[in-house]
Amino acid sequence: MKIHEYQAKDILRHYGIPVSPGKVATTPEQAEQIAREFGVPVVVKAQVYVGGRGKAGGVKFGETPEQARTVAGRILGMDIKGLTVEKVLIGPKVDIQEEYYIGVVLDRASQAPVVMVSAAGGVDIEEVAEQTPEKILKYVVDVRWGLPAFQARDLLERAGMPHIVIAQGGAILAALVRAFLESDATLAEINPLALTRDGQVIAADAKILIDDNALPRQKEYATWAEPEEANPLEFEAKAEGLTYVKLDGSVGIIGNGAGLVMTTLDMVARAGGQPANFLDIGGGAKAETMKKALLFVSRDPQVKGILVNIFGGITRGEEVARGIILAQQELPPGMPIVARLSGTGEVEGRALLADAGLTWGTDMRDAAQKIVAEIAAKGK
Ligand code: GDP
Ligand code: MN
Repeated sequence: MKIHEYQAKDILRHYGIPVSPGKVATTPEQAEQIAREFGVPVVVKAQVYVGGRGKAGGVKFGETPEQARTVAGRILGMDIKGLTVEKVLIGPKVDIQEEYYIGVVLDRASQAPVVMVSAAGGVDIEEVAEQTPEKILKYVVDVRWGLPAFQARDLLERAGMPHIVIAQGGAILAALVRAFLESDATLAEINPLALTRDGQVIAADAKILIDDNALPRQKEYATWAEPEEANPLEFEAKAEGLTYVKLDGSVGIIGNGAGLVMTTLDMVARAGGQPANFLDIGGGAKAETMKKALLFVSRDPQVKGILVNIFGGITRGEEVARGIILAQQELPPGMPIVARLSGTGEVEGRALLADAGLTWGTDMRDAAQKIVAEIAAKGK
């Protein structure tokens, strides 16, 4: 389950982590009022369930209470990666000297939480992870002991953080691991962990994901769920009995069956693409369902192309192909679609696609490579 920054910061505070204060507003007038209470300058931050708010224009400063109102007015209602901003967090602007990254993620390969530490924190951490992964130090945590503070300090030291950060930062990292474990989190990160000009180390941002399977025992966090606001499309899909999950890339993915869909996600990643979302249409879909699925997936503005991967059993290839052809007439012109059909009706389905001038993949890998290539070609 996703939670907002202000909620994640509440958890961190509970674990004794120094966090910049803040209050939530839903109107520009409230934002101005909060800015008066805290005193200026303030930072005004969009509260939406996606990262990269800074780069998307969802983090702004107010030098006066009036300016806080103006920027809050600009951020509220803004669309960030397909989500509408309904709330902003306002707090005193932190006088940041340096930005670091610390995080804990549940790592399936290690079957354990893995701590990540980098002296190169801030909005470009994704690029750091991709281009200079050696700048991110990783450490597998034994859940029996957690991470003692001395070990946390050692990690920060080895990540190249200055001495002024190590004592305070070590205590913060140890507390972050405790918060992660006790909250049944799958991710807990502070980016930036800020060194202020007066030598304080504080969490200027916080992101925590709670394991859905733990919600029955994490009762307080379970009450924080906002299904509709979190993602209107996910909410609508659930109401229609479809399994739809929003992700962060550009490829819309439709498949039948959880295993096949997961494999398709991996295949797209392997082909160098990133899934924007996925929709599992389950078994026995007819052309009309297929058409609906394509239109549904394409409503996510991040979708630049759609990959349909169907293993025909009860679901027939011709029905799938007909659905895709119907959908294509209503989709934005030029939206790349690649289908991979296998099993019942695959020959008939492919023939229909070929007649309609649509692309198909000979197998899953080929289909994934084709959609990634078509999207890349379109982007040029
Ligand atoms: P994100 O982009 O969604 O991760 O949002 P963040 O809260 O991390 O903000 C993005 C960037 O804005 C940070 O890396 C900082 O550079 C900057 N920023 C955010 N809050 C403050 C603040 O209080 N003071 C200063 N000086 N910069 C801030
Ligand atoms: Mn951040």
